[in-house]
Amino acid sequence: MRVRTLGSALALGVLALGGVVVVRAAVRTTSEERVAPAAPLELDPFALSRRLGRALTHRTVSTLDPASFPHERFDALLAELAESFPRTHELLAPERVGRHAVLYRWEADAPAGAPLLLLAHLDVVPVEKGGDWPYAPFGGELAEGFVWGRGALDDKASALAILEAVEHLTAEGFRPRRDVWIALGFDEEVGGKRGAAAVARLLEERGVRPALVLDEGLAVLEDIVDGVERPVAAVGVGEKGSATVRLSAEGPGGHSSLPPPHTAVGRVARAVTRLEARGLPAALDGPSRALFEALVPHMPFGRRLVLANLWLFEPLVLDQLVAAPSTAALVRTTTAATLISGGVKANVLPARAESTVNFRVHPHDGVNAVLAHVREVIDDPTVSVELVAGAEPSPVSPTDGEGFAWLERTIRQVFPDAIVAPSLVTGATDARHYTGCSEAVYRFLPLRLRPDDLPRIHGAAERLALAAYLDMVRFYAQLIRNA
Ligand SMILES: [Zn+2]
Repeated sequence: MRVRTLGSALALGVLALGGVVVVRAAVRTTSEERVAPAAPLELDPFALSRRLGRALTHRTVSTLDPASFPHERFDALLAELAESFPRTHELLAPERVGRHAVLYRWEADAPAGAPLLLLAHLDVVPVEKGGDWPYAPFGGELAEGFVWGRGALDDKASALAILEAVEHLTAEGFRPRRDVWIALGFDEEVGGKRGAAAVARLLEERGVRPALVLDEGLAVLEDIVDGVERPVAAVGVGEKGSATVRLSAEGPGGHSSLPPPHTAVGRVARAVTRLEARGLPAALDGPSRALFEALVPHMPFGRRLVLANLWLFEPLVLDQLVAAPSTAALVRTTTAATLISGGVKANVLPARAESTVNFRVHPHDGVNAVLAHVREVIDDPTVSVELVAGAEPSPVSPTDGEGFAWLERTIRQVFPDAIVAPSLVTGATDARHYTGCSEAVYRFLPLRLRPDDLPRIHGAAERLALAAYLDMVRFYAQLIRNA
């Protein structure tokens, strides 16, 4: 997430408007509520890191193909969790859903309101050969102040930290004011259809309507948002959808010495070129606009001047945002041509060619809008357009309800230096399956991430600093206290 220098906008020198603009920038100051720090939690860092490390040793790599799914590894991990967190497993009596998903319920004596639902997933992505791992990817070692291994960031740490928090609170004799549900998925990395989707259906059937659903997603970003010195606790209030579109063209075949002006390969290539040249329209709206509005007061004066006056500078700001992939993804549906094939031999005219284009659908568009855009931009009736897979963007959750307020308060208590900002998640999480159960679905991993951490997610040398892990446990415990 980077906002590039907006000097060019300033260089325009809109002098007549200068007075208004400066006043607007100056009044944009913060009104952050002061909160008491989180209640102290006596944690044993060594025991915590050992339990997390052990969980990382299970190769719970999810697969779409049921035949190669490592069922026995999930059984072993779940058996170990029951051993590692005995009080939680006795008191919360977890049930299995869809084979390996686990649903825990911590019942309140007299519920003060709608429940809290905490989500995480126990499956991981595979480890690529040749990656640079200083410690074994499934070793779960504690070294140099980090726990190392696949799943340390995404997302076993979150699952274990939730269980640590509950185990700790039950030991203290704490009783929640409202029911606390915990759902651990087992196939998030391959779509969550058998795990999260099944749990969500079950909760809907039982009429469970959480006041807050919290899943992984964004995090406490340090030195990642350009122009903002303080860490940004970015809370995903919505996530993008996806549309995978296949473009194909047929040709007559025959010898390549007597070709038509365009072969099937040429027509598909032209369609892809047109789609890359004209993307879907960008707009600074919804969660992305909310993100900028939250960050503006913390930016240097020059940028504040521009961003506090979007009524005037929005087109220039959008141009800047669209120029970098990380910010373009926040303001528009992205277009990525990912597959292309066609033809059989160098001197044979291709009878068929096809390309697959993956769009990540912004909440201001929808899958049908993407299809209409594709047909219009390609503007070629000889290229057929077919939707291979589509998922609509999630609804956008509110930032003025009690669920978001608990979250914001807890973030301020555990990460007092961070700015809380709503934002948009550009990937997909299990959270999207729960939007039918609750209007208040948020995506936030209570974890400090630095630029160096980002390539470790789904990459080599995944690790989690022990201090960061302790903060995660404190966060979940405090959220349960606050709710
Ligand atoms: Zn994940």
